[in-house]
Amino acid sequence: MALKIWLDDKLVDHEDAKISVFDHGLLYGDGVFEGIRVYNGKIFELTAHIKRLYESAKVIRLDIPMDKDELVKAIEKTVEVNAISDGYIRLVVTRGVGTLGLNPFVCKEGRLIIIADSIQLYPEELYEKGIKVISATTVRNHPLAVPPQVKSLNYLNNILAKIEAVDNDVPEAIMYNHEGYVAEATADNVFIVKNSCVYTPPVEAGALEGVTRDVVIKLAKQEGFEVVEKNLTRADLYICDEFFLTGTAAEVIGIVEIDKRIIGDGKPGKITELLRKKFFKYVRGKK
Ligand code: PMP
Repeated sequence: MALKIWLDDKLVDHEDAKISVFDHGLLYGDGVFEGIRVYNGKIFELTAHIKRLYESAKVIRLDIPMDKDELVKAIEKTVEVNAISDGYIRLVVTRGVGTLGLNPFVCKEGRLIIIADSIQLYPEELYEKGIKVISATTVRNHPLAVPPQVKSLNYLNNILAKIEAVDNDVPEAIMYNHEGYVAEATADNVFIVKNSCVYTPPVEAGALEGVTRDVVIKLAKQEGFEVVEKNLTRADLYICDEFFLTGTAAEVIGIVEIDKRIIGDGKPGKITELLRKKFFKYVRGKK
């Protein structure tokens, strides 16, 4: 079935979902976006994603051309029309059509794109076996540059880190902030376990405040684990007992090696596996 895309105020065939070459989203990466899962026909944590989208837009002074309620209806309609019961929504708001100069205020109106499709980031066996990662040399956005909590269309720092990963034959890279503390992976949040305590870097370390991160923190606490947000160093990652990533696309995935240091016994750890299963149940059971 050909996909229907929501463009601005209506659904169009995907061949007709076109954006101008003068759109500042294309010319400058000027815009914001969200990636959202659909599980069992229910849009997962939609309110949290909508909140983050509007906050990202506020920081970059972008007016989203729709209010929150209308946007929710548009997303629901797009999911329904494309008959997505388990899939992924990409929500994009660009600055809109402007001139070749940088000034965003010559762009009359932001453009809204909603794509609902299927997704599988990693093959199932990698969830069982865990993945290897490297430390990227590319530093996560400085808070005085594009603030790290803004989910902007400009992902070039993360893409440079991803290139480092691919060049090293691993699927992911860990990014550090300008002070050398762990920020996050290229599109996922970082967690470690040490002596049965769960640690994750605070958002101020340069992480995006992940929706999956928040859910996993909640689940870990429900399971009786202590969860501590604190700055982590590269060595903390090397000597942890367990290591995993969380994100909308990746969900929960264990890490078994970083920079040639084996984590634990080289398999995803027990707490990682417990939280992965709890997460799986939580998202699918929640209708
Ligand atoms: N960090 C970055 C840079 C991201 O792009 C994402 C989203 N894929 C995440 C973390 C995870 O956030 P979420 O759980 O909300 O998808």
